[in-house]
Amino acid sequence: MSDLIRPEIKALSAYHVADAGGMIKLDAMENPYGLPDDLIARWLQKISHAALNRYPDPHAAELRDSLRGYMQIPADQAIMLGNGSDELIQMMAMAVAQPGRSILAPEPGFVMYKMIATFVGMDYIGVPLRDDFSLDLPAMLAAVKAQQPALIFLAYPNNPTANLFDEQAMLDIIQASQGLVIVDEAYQPFAGESFMPRLGQFENLLVMRTVSKMGLAGLRLGLLAGNPKWINEFDKVRLPYNINVLTQITAQFALDNASVFEAQATSIREQRSWLLNELNKLADLQVYPSRANFILVRFGKKNASKVFELLKQQGILIKNLSPAGGALDQCLRITVGTSDENRAFVSALRKCLHA
Ligand SMILES: *Cc1c(COP(=O)(O)O)cnc(C)c1O
Repeated sequence: MSDLIRPEIKALSAYHVADAGGMIKLDAMENPYGLPDDLIARWLQKISHAALNRYPDPHAAELRDSLRGYMQIPADQAIMLGNGSDELIQMMAMAVAQPGRSILAPEPGFVMYKMIATFVGMDYIGVPLRDDFSLDLPAMLAAVKAQQPALIFLAYPNNPTANLFDEQAMLDIIQASQGLVIVDEAYQPFAGESFMPRLGQFENLLVMRTVSKMGLAGLRLGLLAGNPKWINEFDKVRLPYNINVLTQITAQFALDNASVFEAQATSIREQRSWLLNELNKLADLQVYPSRANFILVRFGKKNASKVFELLKQQGILIKNLSPAGGALDQCLRITVGTSDENRAFVSALRKCLHA
């Protein structure tokens, strides 16, 4: 029985989430703002009527309609909801997985694409980005042509590099691919750019969104929009009640009060500018441009892992990407926090650099 677990699963390490007890948490691209008190009171009122004894609406029809309006999803495009966009990636992979089939994504990129490929027994092709983290279009097109991946994921903006890829390069990849291209717009509230209006233009284009980064990471709700021809098939591998009652009610409530989240996103974008400006003043630090709610930096002489540990000792948790090595050697990723949190971070970082 010792070979019961597949070797590729045995070789994995479980997705690690750092313990942030009592620390300033700038590691996971969460919105640092909670809900205002008056909104919490009204939300409690709403969920007090939740029918917890009943199964949720399996199609979350009301919420889906609201999301369609809010995210301006074209009327001829279908929508599927997931327990976070992670679950949507998993459902797409499950629906296409076959021996020899592959998932392709630029590297460095979002780690779940590769993990989920492994879960479902698909090959994973990581195509390196250029040194400035832009798409290497010839390399992407060569890989697409040679491997014809079933799924291509393009995070827009990309995580962990924070940049938006060139729009024309993405269109070239969509047109060159016989498989599906999923534009992952997890950071759309901070980028202001979207492929959503292009959905009708390409049959093999899908757009994925999540409410996680806009301030509702605890809800676990993601959305996939695209041609009904694909979405209707993916929907067959969806577990019937994947969006629970409390998530349906709460997400609907959030959309009814969307201006609160939009104002928070505006603050985060302002704080991002402030943080970029402060970081750019520091020596020994390469600061990459950001269209997301986080910033990637690379250290020169200072050891990034050591800076990460020193920050932790000062009660500030960010993400250390340096152990991944390669293109992320000496890199740390900082989620944009509140003004106070960002100030605390910058002053702690200055101390580290002088240590
Ligand atoms: C955070 C993130 C997600 C995950 O979103 P959930 O909806 O919380 O599962 C998806 N894609 C990218 C690129 C991300 O950075």
